[in-house]
Amino acid sequence: MIKVEKLTKSFGSNVVLKEIDLTINEGEVVAIIGPSGSGKSTLLRCLNLLEKPDSGHISIADVSLDVKQHSRKEESALRHQSAMVFQSYNLFKNKTALENITLSPVVTQGLNKNEAKALGLSLLKQVGLEQQAHQYPITLSGGQQQRVAIARALAVKPKVLLFDEPTSALDPERVNEVLQVIQQLAKQKITMVIVTHEMEFAKNVADRVVFMAGGNIVEQGPARQVIDQPQQEQTKRFVRQFG
Ligand code: ATP
Ligand code: MG
Repeated sequence: MIKVEKLTKSFGSNVVLKEIDLTINEGEVVAIIGPSGSGKSTLLRCLNLLEKPDSGHISIADVSLDVKQHSRKEESALRHQSAMVFQSYNLFKNKTALENITLSPVVTQGLNKNEAKALGLSLLKQVGLEQQAHQYPITLSGGQQQRVAIARALAVKPKVLLFDEPTSALDPERVNEVLQVIQQLAKQKITMVIVTHEMEFAKNVADRVVFMAGGNIVEQGPARQVIDQPQQEQTKRFVRQFG
């Protein structure tokens, strides 16, 4: 489903991704863990070209491109393969929950208003927020806003969902409701890449854990193995801190 080859990204002299190779299968849930500054967000952002990589190849589903030489059309096609859920929800404040979700399908997929509304309501139901359809973000809790953001990401029918620390801005008592929604999506075999600091969640939901440090993938494997029995010193130190 996803294949990244020799992906490199620098900011000035700071090499943030060092020839990353990563393959993710259809329906797989992969958690990316690692210390602050290790390149997790940058890798995620490069996958949907929010950040422009310096070199390498990215394929998602049937779109494949060389990051150095490609057409606008290929770039747009690759972007449409994935949808991102950010730490800070990023909802449109002047739009209701439902409008936040229907905006993109109306614009990019040419759905008419009624089709988009039906889609939006069914997605809100899926994240447990049917009753809040007409509320504005400011009247929703952080956990509810993040669930709207997940519904919005699903609305464009992406092949892959990308999550960057989806619960780290939430009050502790709101974390579980968001993790439960992600868990449900995992059961539906939606391909997901999740940057997270929630080790228990990673163990329960991810098929595979990828540990990054210093712009490299240091270790990867079945979630429980990497978190409970890491092989590399750097991984051991990291999981001990979070254990
Ligand atoms: P965290 O766990 O704190 O979110 P991370 O693993 O997601 O960390 P990144 O955000 O990918 O780390 O950052 C990796 C490195 O790239 C850091 O040194 C960071 O300062 C640098 N960096 C990220 N974005 C930019 C940018 N837009 N301009 C310059 N440097 C950047
Ligand atoms: Mg980050």
